[in-house]
Amino acid sequence: MQITFYCPGAPIDLWKAAFLKHCPQAVFKAWQAGDAPADYGIVWHPSAQFFAEQTQLKTVFNIGAGVDAILKQKCLPANLPIVKLEDAGMADQMFDYILYAVLHYFRNMDGYGFQQTNRVWNALPAGNKAADFVVGVMGLGQIGQNVAQRLAAYGFTVHGWSRSEKSLPGIYTHAGMDALADFLGALDTVVLVLPHTPATHGILNKQRLGQIKPGAAIINVGRGDLLSAPALLEALNTGHLRGAFLDVFEVEPLPADSQLWTHPKIRLTPHISAPTLIEPSMAQIAQKILLLEAGKPISGIVNPNLGY
Ligand code: NDP
Repeated sequence: MQITFYCPGAPIDLWKAAFLKHCPQAVFKAWQAGDAPADYGIVWHPSAQFFAEQTQLKTVFNIGAGVDAILKQKCLPANLPIVKLEDAGMADQMFDYILYAVLHYFRNMDGYGFQQTNRVWNALPAGNKAADFVVGVMGLGQIGQNVAQRLAAYGFTVHGWSRSEKSLPGIYTHAGMDALADFLGALDTVVLVLPHTPATHGILNKQRLGQIKPGAAIINVGRGDLLSAPALLEALNTGHLRGAFLDVFEVEPLPADSQLWTHPKIRLTPHISAPTLIEPSMAQIAQKILLLEAGKPISGIVNPNLGY
């Protein structure tokens, strides 16, 4: 079985060793132009040339949970199954990041930051219990569900929103566009863990940012295109929103002249909330390839019509 690996700049020896541990019979090779056709692709942001040449792939595995970049690829063969990573160690990392950001607002660290800049020694009004702080998680998939449940276990009141109806212990769940305005209106902090698809593009636009409860904060770890940056800046400048914690951006790296860099109500990080981990992701993909080779079904297959 031939595996072609496309992830320029990645330490191929580490990826290869992690994969072969679970699938020693495979031949694992970093893709080069002109290579013979392989059976399976393991890829991140593959080029058009990759798909133009690798015409015999049975399945392609994306080494990330977000498949927006691969679905945009014009040479992507129409019937090629694409498989996304399912958690593979990302949900735990995401929870750490989101808990930190939620606590930033819950414990008024934004307000203390402004006060420190101005040498102000002043205790801000406090005393709310975590249960009085309402966090909304948009996207209840492999990552969002885990995050929502762990935030609820921490003590926050948690609402979740997804495309299809869900029943999750300890979470107030909402589904579909019709439920979105009421969901947004009840939250102290909105966490975006959605994929970027045609249906979610710009989902937090000016109108929907206006529906968020005044004084709430936004945490975006999904994709930059989910949130309108000009509308966010306006909502922060008018005081409608309290702050934003951003890990993902429409253009990455974030251009040096972006106003987001210096806005006093924004904390930002360079798309690091949940990097792909080599060992668990290669174990997951190798196990799925073994299942496919045995004629068995696998989970995580992307629905190209939905875009995730
Ligand atoms: P999943 O595919 O498991 O889950 C996606 C969730 O989004 C599902 O709950 C789905 O609803 C919901 N959803 C999709 N479309 C809509 C819609 N139109 N309306 C309402 N809900 C919708 O994805 P993951 O949880 O694994 O990952 C989510 C995203 O997080 C990734 O696509 C990626 O963009 C981002 N990510 C970012 C990382 C980073 O480092 N910043 C790292 C990893 C992921 P339903 O349950 O009904 O299908």
